[in-house]
Amino acid sequence: MNIPKSRLINSKKPFVVAGPCSAESEKQVFETAQSIADLSPCVRWFRAGVWKPRTRPDCFEGMGRQALAWLSQVKEKTGLNVCTEVINPQHIELCLQHKIDGLWIGARTSTNPFLIEELALCLRNLGATNLPIFVKNPLNPDVNLWIGAMERFYNAGCENIIAVHRGFSLADNGKYRQNPLWRVPIELKRLLPELSVLCDPSHIAGKRSFVSEISQMAMNLRLDGLFIETHCNPYMAKTDSEQQIKPTELRDLLVKLSIPDDEMRSLASITSIREKIDAIDDELIELLQRRMQHCGDLAKIKQVENLSLFQPNRWSEVLDSRLSAAKQRGLSQNFIKIIFEQIHEESIKIQGEQIDE
Ligand code: PEP
Ligand code: MN
Repeated sequence: MNIPKSRLINSKKPFVVAGPCSAESEKQVFETAQSIADLSPCVRWFRAGVWKPRTRPDCFEGMGRQALAWLSQVKEKTGLNVCTEVINPQHIELCLQHKIDGLWIGARTSTNPFLIEELALCLRNLGATNLPIFVKNPLNPDVNLWIGAMERFYNAGCENIIAVHRGFSLADNGKYRQNPLWRVPIELKRLLPELSVLCDPSHIAGKRSFVSEISQMAMNLRLDGLFIETHCNPYMAKTDSEQQIKPTELRDLLVKLSIPDDEMRSLASITSIREKIDAIDDELIELLQRRMQHCGDLAKIKQVENLSLFQPNRWSEVLDSRLSAAKQRGLSQNFIKIIFEQIHEESIKIQGEQIDE
């Protein structure tokens, strides 16, 4: 199945949705919306969470339906399109009553196929399949679960589906709040080349100082736009205070963003460098094959000598020496660590297979 490009996305990139994490009060919603409307035509869509799924029960859970009325008024007064998160079919009904222009599905909801199916059927039954649906990735990095959620909306007849990459909740998220794990949206684009994909840099970042570098990375990876938390007074925000930026900061961020040309021209200079890269990759594969063969030989000796396949001291030495060699050559420690962890894991697996034979 190929989910088609959303008609919201045109060649004029990036497509931007901006607004506070939560609609907190009429004043906060209008003040933020007015400043965002001033950024038109760069920003035409306003976001604000009305129902907030929270980790702990004693947190602010959103203003509920009264905030939908504020969103309708934002639409009337500023001409911005408005969207909010829906978690159950009743939310969809209320959004339709308030003429909300788009709905987003949060990361906690897209992990749950039954809930997604209910939401998709609700849209079909209410004749609302033309409504844009922004589908955030599930919390866990499972590209098929994400695709499955979008397929359920597509199968129900929704014709305007936009994926939103908001990072993943892993044991190690590095310097960010969520791990961006860029290979997942890259794989998504490989599997569904037409699909429109935005990036939510705010939830990945967790801190406003990282929002702009993540936005630029999203543009470098040819994503179609940004879904970005913007608040008139971020320091006082009731949710996600540390990651929200002011409308003026959003304006600066958008001005600085470098948008690459999507069309790849064939240039002789690029072709010649790529040939060198291809040759190095061939060498890498041959080297890995030779390395794994030695590991297989090692396994046979360990079996005869009754030694365990995993040798913790040797592994520590290997990792430390490779990291220090990498450091001298100016390679990222994190990158080399990930590669050698993968090589080591594969080596143990191959050694185990040798013994099984
Ligand atoms: C949000 O956008 O405010 C939100 C709750 O996002 P997520 O579902 O990505 O955590
Ligand atoms: Mn938020």
